[in-house]
Amino acid sequence: MKKLFTMFLILLLSISLIGCSNSAFNGYKDGSYTGTGDGLNGPVEVEVEVVNGEISNIVVVSQTETVGLGDVAIEKIVAKTIETNNTNIDSVSGATVSSTAIVTAIRDALTKAGGTKEHFDSEELVSLKTAALEDEYEYDVIVIGAGGAGLSAAIEAAKTGAKVAIVEKTSAAGGNTLVSGGGLNVAGSPQQEKNGVEDSVELFIEDTLKGGDYENDPVLVQVMAEHSLEAATWLQEEIGVIFMEDRLQQFGGHSVPRALISQGNKGDELINKLQAEAESLGVDIYFETTAEALNQIDGRVTSVVVVNNEKETVFHASKGVIIATGGFASNIEMRKEYNPVYDEKFLSTATPGSTGDGIMMAQEVGADLVDMSYIQVYPTCNPETGIISYVANSRFDGAILINQEGKRFVDEMGRRDDISNAIIDQTGGVAYLVWSSEIEEVGHMTDIHLVEYSQWENSDLIYKAESIEDAAAHYNISVEEMQATIDAYNASIADGVDEDYNRGGALRTIEEGPFYIQVVTASTHHTMGGIKINDQAQVLDTNGEVIPGLFAAGEVVGGVHGTNRLGGNAITDIIVFGRIAGQNVVK
Ligand code: ADP
Repeated sequence: MKKLFTMFLILLLSISLIGCSNSAFNGYKDGSYTGTGDGLNGPVEVEVEVVNGEISNIVVVSQTETVGLGDVAIEKIVAKTIETNNTNIDSVSGATVSSTAIVTAIRDALTKAGGTKEHFDSEELVSLKTAALEDEYEYDVIVIGAGGAGLSAAIEAAKTGAKVAIVEKTSAAGGNTLVSGGGLNVAGSPQQEKNGVEDSVELFIEDTLKGGDYENDPVLVQVMAEHSLEAATWLQEEIGVIFMEDRLQQFGGHSVPRALISQGNKGDELINKLQAEAESLGVDIYFETTAEALNQIDGRVTSVVVVNNEKETVFHASKGVIIATGGFASNIEMRKEYNPVYDEKFLSTATPGSTGDGIMMAQEVGADLVDMSYIQVYPTCNPETGIISYVANSRFDGAILINQEGKRFVDEMGRRDDISNAIIDQTGGVAYLVWSSEIEEVGHMTDIHLVEYSQWENSDLIYKAESIEDAAAHYNISVEEMQATIDAYNASIADGVDEDYNRGGALRTIEEGPFYIQVVTASTHHTMGGIKINDQAQVLDTNGEVIPGLFAAGEVVGGVHGTNRLGGNAITDIIVFGRIAGQNVVK
């Protein structure tokens, strides 16, 4: 009897267990749920909405992933999750951490809606890959690269009714244009007039030539300066770009404030609007499609060989090809080939697509290259990612640089290349930027760039210290040496001169806490050299002759900036020459 009863109990338990596993997942419960995942730079937070048991919407409440890479991955995975009602989405290559973070955040939210681990594990893997390309395509114009130059070129060509395609090797438009501050120098803008700033095309030309040590191609500089106002008007009136009202910035090397700053002080204002305009004009953009070679018939460039999903495809261009692939700051081998100083010790501020592909493809068809050894470096970047720090602009308000030994080693306001090379030579290839409340209160850099500040804090690359002792101890710097360096600096500048390094700009003491200490390194930033073009953006061969059917614009071109590009000149350059290339290719 007892045995029977036990068997009955076991049976009952098994039935209830089966029932339990059957009811483990019966669709999500309707409602709104929040979830979090750990991203590369901090938490990724989402709000997931469930309607009729299915995911109806996902809002990314906050994230601080890498612009142009991590955030793009998040966007793609969110869209795919909503489309498929499935959370098992393939990672985006190059952005695995961000991809995992967004999936984790979505699942965290859905767990609150009844989602279970068993259910998530049972979901089929959804690929983000696009459908395979055909073997060949026919277009009038092929643009290589969907950065600022490529999009501007495509728009101008498409406006004339031409059939235009852009091939872009990454999964999103933008390139370095996207991660820029979106500033564009213009001579004679209404904003200058409103602020009583007197400027001229001639002065803009002179500043640019001087900044490039007069090694620039004067014809290209003139074209850039003469068309700068027209480019800004085009961006505003035809593309819908919004520039910050009443903001006129003066970057180093410019005699007057002449930079208009895109809304949000970021390149996404430019890229989002340029991409929307290109698409509305019917431009086809093929992402994850890498151009590898140019084909010629009787000397004329007539098609581009691309690779997508490991498959080779030929894009024919009846009118011409425009190379707009950006620079080569992310290609260490190429940097070393042209300027051995910038080897693997240097990270790069550039996006991963900046590998010089366009330069190499052009060279294969006989293009001339100019100024290839001129590579610009930026001194205060993230030692883990190479990305430029805006918080570190506290340097311009008086922050000093010290090394691991607690000593100063350079004039903090010197040339970018001098400071950068000096930093790379210090212990660990890094330096510590140190500032006090006196300095923070001038520029409020940690407040203005709060998102960046939090990212650096999460990576323990910036520390807010109560005392100099605390700051030194945090990064294993000798407390005595650091204190002695700061005492000597404070005493020296009391007389208005920095006796050790004759530092220019603002001299401010480092006395009042809290103190900030930030680990920085130098990164390669902009490559001035590239393909030789004429004032019509036509590519020239080594005899100075035009290569028919081939145009180039943007950072892939050499000669505009000489030895050194001034701040705000990159965007002017790419928009002006991108438009010229697009207008001429259809002629
Ligand atoms: P620019 O400022 O001159 O417009 P960007 O860096 O903004 O240059 O944009 C260049 C774009 O070209 C990037 O999006 C980059 O990924 C893309 N690109 C680079 N090489 C290739 C290639 N081989 N095929 C297709 N796209 C490429």
